[in-house]
Amino acid sequence: MAEIIDGKAAGEEVVAKVKERTAQLIAEAGVQPGLAVVIVGEDPASQVYVNSKSKKAKDCGFHSEQHTLPAETSEAELLALVEKLNADPKIHGILVQLPLPSQMDAGKVIQTIAPEKDVDGFHFNNVGRLGTGELDAAFVPCTPAGCMLLVEKIRGADLSGLSAVVIGRSNIVGKPMANLLLAANCTVTIAHSRTKDLPALARTADILVAAVGRPEMVKGDWVKPGATVIDVGINRVIAAEGEKAKLVGDVAFAEASEHAGAITPVPGGVGPMTIALLMANTLKSAYRAAGRKPPK
Ligand code: NDP
Repeated sequence: MAEIIDGKAAGEEVVAKVKERTAQLIAEAGVQPGLAVVIVGEDPASQVYVNSKSKKAKDCGFHSEQHTLPAETSEAELLALVEKLNADPKIHGILVQLPLPSQMDAGKVIQTIAPEKDVDGFHFNNVGRLGTGELDAAFVPCTPAGCMLLVEKIRGADLSGLSAVVIGRSNIVGKPMANLLLAANCTVTIAHSRTKDLPALARTADILVAAVGRPEMVKGDWVKPGATVIDVGINRVIAAEGEKAKLVGDVAFAEASEHAGAITPVPGGVGPMTIALLMANTLKSAYRAAGRKPPK
């Protein structure tokens, strides 16, 4: 049976280091990391995410701001807030929670965030840096950065020559994940909805990452024996009428566990890493603002 990769514990380790270094930065340089989280509208799932990000920032010892704007806010008003936060020296990280209401161009909003405060890593400058392998200069998107830490926990820091398959090509998970694995010298294939014979391709992977958004799509016999399986998917499913919804990943966990060497559960795998890496990125930004080399 596969080793279960404990993302909750790994996330807590990251957060503990962030707390320690925050205290150090405040003591030595007088700089307190600041995170501003912006949400537009009242989508309940987004509210939950945003509240937990703001709370975690406070736990880390950050200056934490939450800006909640009504759903009817205009794009110009949101852009004005982003510009204000760009210019605010107390703020080192700006996160605009997606999705945004339909009257707004999310791409435009993201490109308005100053690249040096873009702790989500979605600005073209950061995407370009990651794409060209300048990882130290980039902000790497939090979910794939967290996945890499989990992979390295299992496989060690040297992933050279391993075969990696990433299922999903979104800009926030699939593509940056593939770039990180490539930068770590894996041989990477990106699969998507048009890929032919996905099960056969998946079976070639030493590292298999599923970021699709389809409950339990990856079956046990898609997994190469001993593979490291990272399940990014978060899907809410109701098994039978009247039952409560439960969270499942993109991987059929029980059957995949019989083949994998190690596997992340859902929940408790990638999820807690995402928020931990957001804190780590904000700390990194504050170190840079203080003219110090960010900790690894
Ligand atoms: P997107 O919907 O943006 O992308 C999904 C990708 O999956 C697309 O590239 C799509 O291909 C591909 N895909 C869809 N159906 C199939 C199929 N049948 N076979 C192969 N590929 C397929 O999703 P995200 O990347 O934003 O998120 C993916 C999952 O990860 C979701 O469940 C999301 O909730 C979760 N997530 C979890 C996070 C966490 O913190 N744990 C953070 C972010 C996301 P194509 O491009 O061809 O359409």
